[in-house]
Order: sequence, then C-alpha cells, then structure tokens
Amino acid sequence: MSELIGKRALVTGASRGIGAAIALGLADKGADVAITYAGSADRAAAVVRTIEQKGRRAVAIQADSGDPAAIKRSVDETLSALGGLDILVNNAGIALYNLIADISVDQIDEMLKVNVRGPILAAQAAIPHLQAGGRIISIGSAGADRIVGEPGSVYYMTKSALQSMTRGLARELGSRDITVNLVQPGSTNTDMNPADGEFSDWQRSLMPLGRYGEPTDVAAAVAFLASPAAKQISGVILNIDGGLNT
Ligand code: NDP
Repeated sequence: MSELIGKRALVTGASRGIGAAIALGLADKGADVAITYAGSADRAAAVVRTIEQKGRRAVAIQADSGDPAAIKRSVDETLSALGGLDILVNNAGIALYNLIADISVDQIDEMLKVNVRGPILAAQAAIPHLQAGGRIISIGSAGADRIVGEPGSVYYMTKSALQSMTRGLARELGSRDITVNLVQPGSTNTDMNPADGEFSDWQRSLMPLGRYGEPTDVAAAVAFLASPAAKQISGVILNIDGGLNT
C-alpha cells in the first residue's frame, strides 16, 4: 500500500473522471500529487482535500493543456509545491466527435493541441527533473487500435500519436532508468462517456465483458505502472477496455 511514499506525481486533467481517480489512486499508495484542471476549480479543490485527508500533500493548478506556457508553469508549480517530480501522468484530453467530412479546422487544432502537443510539452518540461526510477504514463484510448463509431476518427488519431510518442520516449529515456508507458481506456464511466448515455448500450455490446469500465479500473493500472514492481515495463501499450480490442 505504501510503495509510492516519497514520490511526487503530476496528473493533468484530474479535477474529475479518470484523472481524479488516478490522482487518488497514486495518493492511496503514498504519493504526493499535483493536479491540473481547465475550469473546474471547485472539483479540483475537492480532489486536493481528499488527498490531504489521506495524509498526503496535494496542490491544484489551473493550467490549460492546450497552452504551452501553462504546461511549463504547471511543472514549475509542482516542483515548488512538492519539492520534485517523479511521476508524470498525461491524462487531460478532449473528444470532439465529428466526421472527417464535417470536422472544422478549430476542432482539429483543439484536439491536436490538448491531446498531442500537450503531452509532448508536459514530458519535455518534466524530463530534466525526473530521476532514475521516474515514470511517464499517458492516457490514450482503446479507439486508437479499433475505431468504434464513425465520427471519432480524428480523436482516435490524436490518441494513436501517443503510441509513437510513448515508444520513442521509452527509447529516449531508458538509459536514465525512466519508464514510459501508455494506458488505453475503453468505454469508461465519466462525464465524457457516461455509462447511461445515448450510445452506452451499443458500446457495451462491443465488449466481451459487456460492461463499462470505472475510472478506478484505469487508475489501478496507472498505480501499478508507477510502482517499483513495474520497473522492467517500458514502451508498453495497455488496454483497459473490457476486451474490446480482442
Ligand atoms: P472527462 O471529460 O470526464 O474529464 C476531463 C478532465 O480533463 C477534467 O478534469 C478536465 O478539467 C480536464 N481537462 C479537459 N480539458 C483540459 C485542458 N485543455 N487542460 C487541462 N485539463 C483539461 O474525461 P475522462 O475522465 O473520461 O477522460 C480522461 C482521459 O481518458 C482523456 O484523455 C480521454 O481522452 C481518455 N479516455 C476516456 C475514455 C472514456 O470512455 N471516458 C475512453 C478512452 C480514453 P475541467 O474539469 O476543469 O474541465
């Protein structure tokens, strides 16, 4: 339960949903945690309070993952608040569904900025501060491997980009004993993809396990990859998708 005591984590987009569960899961294992959010200050403050109630340090940082200066500032503020950085979790993401025939330039740019450029720049800002045993874990999507539904192509494309980034960074940082992995959720019950939403039954029908994932399912995988027990795992793409990609 305590294998992350003394570790300092930054989780992007962690005011709610999967990111919040990841932040809480890392704190459960002993980590101090900085979280970023876009607009939900109250919900971010609630996550911080819950982490503090677990006896861990926590800080919430308003930082748009589409804004390079804000990303850099979020890493700097994490270092100031927690005294270092050992684990970066690139979770913040947006899904703007539209057919390629109809998608606007603004929608394409917004997803590229938040889902692709954001993780690259967060890693870039974090890398100089990570020590041996450091971790970079990104949250992609099982849709990168299996396109489900017609309007998701560009969103899934942005998540596919994280596969190459993960493998490349695993090579780049291996000699420093820093692991880099990608966790790909399938249908997971959050504001982005509610289990009782319009298309939820259809999504369930695609999965051998026939049920939505919960944010804690993804958080458990992230906590494992962050732990010392996962020291030999790098460059891996792990689907948490109820068997969707089988
Ligand atoms: P939610 O929409 O439920 O929550 C998104 C979180 O990210 C919020 O904390 C939000 O902050 C934050 N966020 C959104 N945009 C930005 C931004 N520009 N800068 C900083 N923070 C931002 O999403 P999920 O929890 O469902 O998704 C988390 C990750 O998992 C995403 O990368 C998503 O693509 C991926 N994913 C989700 C799946 C699902 O079925 N739910 C399936 C596959 C992948 P705020 O509250 O302030 O808006």
